[in-house]
Amino acid sequence: MIQFEHVMKNYGNTKILKDLSFTVPDGQFLVLIGPSGCGKTTTLKLINRLSEPDGGRILMDGKDISKINPVQLRRHIGYVIQQIGLFPNMTVEQNICVVPKLLKMDKSKYSQLAREYLEMVGLPYEQYAHKYPNELSGGQQQRIGVLRALAASPPVVLMDEPFGALDPMTREVLQDEVKKLQKKLNKTIVFVTHDMDEALKLADVILFMNQGEIEQMDSPEKMLEHPASDLVRSFLGKRTPVESDQLRVEDCMMTKPFVVSMDQGILECAEKMARSGIDTLLVVDENDKYLGVLPINNIRKYGRTASGIVPLLSTDYRTVRVGEYARESMDYLLGTNASFVVVLNADDTIAGIITRNRMARVVAETLWGEEK
Ligand code: ADP
Repeated sequence: MIQFEHVMKNYGNTKILKDLSFTVPDGQFLVLIGPSGCGKTTTLKLINRLSEPDGGRILMDGKDISKINPVQLRRHIGYVIQQIGLFPNMTVEQNICVVPKLLKMDKSKYSQLAREYLEMVGLPYEQYAHKYPNELSGGQQQRIGVLRALAASPPVVLMDEPFGALDPMTREVLQDEVKKLQKKLNKTIVFVTHDMDEALKLADVILFMNQGEIEQMDSPEKMLEHPASDLVRSFLGKRTPVESDQLRVEDCMMTKPFVVSMDQGILECAEKMARSGIDTLLVVDENDKYLGVLPINNIRKYGRTASGIVPLLSTDYRTVRVGEYARESMDYLLGTNASFVVVLNADDTIAGIITRNRMARVVAETLWGEEK
């Protein structure tokens, strides 16, 4: 459990944190959000003593952390930042095991640990353990960074915009993974973001800060139902009550899905999928018009004999047009096994995709809106 008791922090004459008090129970996923400069990162750094408060105190399991040796303290607190900083001259396995090694864990034990953790995020040990960071995509490096923070099995993990630099799709995949790992390993996580979508998806509790004070601290559901101020409402943006019947497909879609051109090689496509942790690519012709979906399954089945990716395309994926109501896509996604619907512009170029995940969220959010 982490407790902030009347914590203050100044830089020069500026009061950055003003009398901040809150509690994070064990196993909770707390997300700090708020306008840039409101003090999120400062709050996070106070927890592992990268910065010291000017007033008040912070307790970890009832102990005042100012009385704990900072090095000792940090061994029990994982820390993930945007520029993950894997050690370039160490393999993936060595990177993951830095802290377990420091803690003098048995080699056989931490090797096993690296294996388990890699498998948990879908990176097979044999394939990845001995690679170096520069052989990995940005998304994969970030995965390893997250694993490294978790591997010492610290009860508390701090994350400062860990996915800020990633493309939207990789970001969503990693968000899902972190949430899964947190539940499975029962970690207490304090996570900083400025992205409300991310906060709503991950948080058990959202702490909305403004100018060093708590504007609102609530579950995502409560915050959506009762935003405490116009500022919170503006962060929630267009999520605030919309009748679900009024939603258009573009309100529900993810823009920037992975797209490749029809002249890409089969192998390149397979590699791109592997790198990004996805199992389909959207394919366009030379004028960026949508041609179809390339599923990894078709590469697996017919890839050896096919002349290019065009014969491997599936046209079974439903397409809709920008401007159409979302209800039909919603019913379709929720009623079948389809994983997404392709949204096209009037000129047949790709506007985005609506995934099941996203649809479920939009549905949940509009239901909260409709309860009023
Ligand atoms: P956030 O993470 O919410 O964007 P920060 O906690 O990074 O905000 O910063 C809060 C305020 O404190 C900002 O105005 C920032 O400029 C200031 N600040 C942060 N670190 C320092 C520092 N080391 N020295 C002086 N001012 C700082």
